[in-house]
Amino acid sequence: MRRTKIIATLGPATDDPQVLAALFTAGTDGFRLNFSHGSIQDHAKRVTQIRHLASEHKRSIAIIADLQGPKIRIARFEKGSVILKENELFTFDADLADDAGNELSVGIDYKHLPQDVAAGDTLLVDDGRLSFIVQSVEKNKIHCQIMSGGTISNNKGINRLGGGLSAEALTEKDREDLKFAIGLEVDYIAISFPRNAEDILEARALIKALQGHASIIAKIERAEAVDNIDEIIEASDVIMVARGDLGVEMGDAELPSLQKRLISRTREKNKVSITATQMMESMIHNSIPTRAEVMDVANAVLDGTDAVMLSAETASGDHPAQVVAAMSRICIGAEKHPRSFISHHRIDKTFHHIDESIAMAAMYTANHFPIKAIICLTETGTTPLWMSRIRSGIPIFALSRRSLSLHKMSLYRGVYPLYFDMTHMDEDRIEHNAIHRLTQLGFLEQNDIVILTKGTHIGVLGGTNALKILCVEEKN
Ligand code: PGA
Ligand code: MN
Repeated sequence: MRRTKIIATLGPATDDPQVLAALFTAGTDGFRLNFSHGSIQDHAKRVTQIRHLASEHKRSIAIIADLQGPKIRIARFEKGSVILKENELFTFDADLADDAGNELSVGIDYKHLPQDVAAGDTLLVDDGRLSFIVQSVEKNKIHCQIMSGGTISNNKGINRLGGGLSAEALTEKDREDLKFAIGLEVDYIAISFPRNAEDILEARALIKALQGHASIIAKIERAEAVDNIDEIIEASDVIMVARGDLGVEMGDAELPSLQKRLISRTREKNKVSITATQMMESMIHNSIPTRAEVMDVANAVLDGTDAVMLSAETASGDHPAQVVAAMSRICIGAEKHPRSFISHHRIDKTFHHIDESIAMAAMYTANHFPIKAIICLTETGTTPLWMSRIRSGIPIFALSRRSLSLHKMSLYRGVYPLYFDMTHMDEDRIEHNAIHRLTQLGFLEQNDIVILTKGTHIGVLGGTNALKILCVEEKN
């Protein structure tokens, strides 16, 4: 069983119901709706398709609405694109008409940009494929020298090396999209380009005001976010290592160390992490990954990420289901390495909650005794979250009656959510029924030893206070 979870971005390439069904069968755990592309009708239709497939397959799946955020873009060119030559001069002009770009200048959609940059800054366009040194800023015009040229086309993204752009994380469009996404009952909302905890808390307040229950993913893709990482992790539920924009703002050489630091810090703080962007890039067209991509996915697994994400590979790629299958195979391979399952068990830490102590005790026991599985009877999914912060090779089955908890838990590494409603069961049958459920699904057999955790009062949130070690009996 694969512990690391896979997120696939939906797009034109996955709209065919057969392709979507194949993504399911290949083992996708979470689907991302990318609000940078497509209409709200497209997103609504995809949500309906996924929820339908999930109930057909009896699987718990997470749906993520990824808001566009203040991605700053150039405007358009008269001819769609131009070729820029090194060392020549070029102007980003906030006053220029939107489709009047040429070899000398182009408009920008973020009119405030000239106030945010100064002579000597480096501007990067199209994920850094083109770069410019700012020579001077004259009112709404940024005059630059072209450092590395090439073809520049309509609406490409623009970043400042080192960050420092003032754009707010939530744009008007994001607020509208967020409202819409909450209406679709998505499980997670991803915030693009947050700068600090305040940006996250603002999104949380909006979700609350809409009476939504979605958790928040903070996409770390801006230099300021790296400076404020601890407060962002604390304010969020999930951290995404958004290597695309992050690599542009920080420089690609910063990425390896950043990825490792972000993932381990996130785990330490009991939050969930996603590693994203270009993981299987060559499979947009090819049918197998490069060896470098194999190693990249494997390294993210060994870094301890909860989930790995596919973007264009599935959304607009030639082989969406094959990419998921390849990624799944690589994760399983990487999980065989001891670094994936040997834990230090927070030996030097103090615990603060009863359910947290139960989770830690369960993992310590599971990793030091021939335990076949951990069965966690849970309402909110907090206990399985704590459990999954500890490295282990033993599956954590999270049994819950709450669909929202089940969906969210499907992104936690090593956690397998299963629908189980114990509210109408006789108290003394619950454990037996839980084990029976897993035996029927083929996960357990006679004489297997399992750990079961639960609360004294069934149905109470955050009430886990008991750990039992049980042997699977014949009649199960
Ligand atoms: P994007 O974010 O795919 O929405 O740009 C991820 C990244 O920047 O890596
Ligand atoms: Mn991005």
